[in-house]
Amino acid sequence: MIKQETAMKTLSHNAFARHEIVRERVGIRDDTDCSWCGRVKSTKNGSRYLFRYGIQADSLVARINWLRGLFCSKGCAELYAEVDL
Ligand SMILES: [Zn+2]
Repeated sequence: MIKQETAMKTLSHNAFARHEIVRERVGIRDDTDCSWCGRVKSTKNGSRYLFRYGIQADSLVARINWLRGLFCSKGCAELYAEVDL
């Protein structure tokens, strides 16, 4: 269950494809784990979190197409969604 979200980070910008890959950190309060490998990230004080990844088109209406699932890393998201981020 998604309980809290922090600011998004742009990971890369592909000018040719005219989209950006964005990542958002999502706080985890239940037993949700990485959709690909089953791991969970945690901070020094024990707060658990994962990332979600999305593709944002370069347009005036900046709609983000989020990948399904939460992931511990970009590599897991790529394997799970079968995309190159
Ligand atoms: Zn993972």
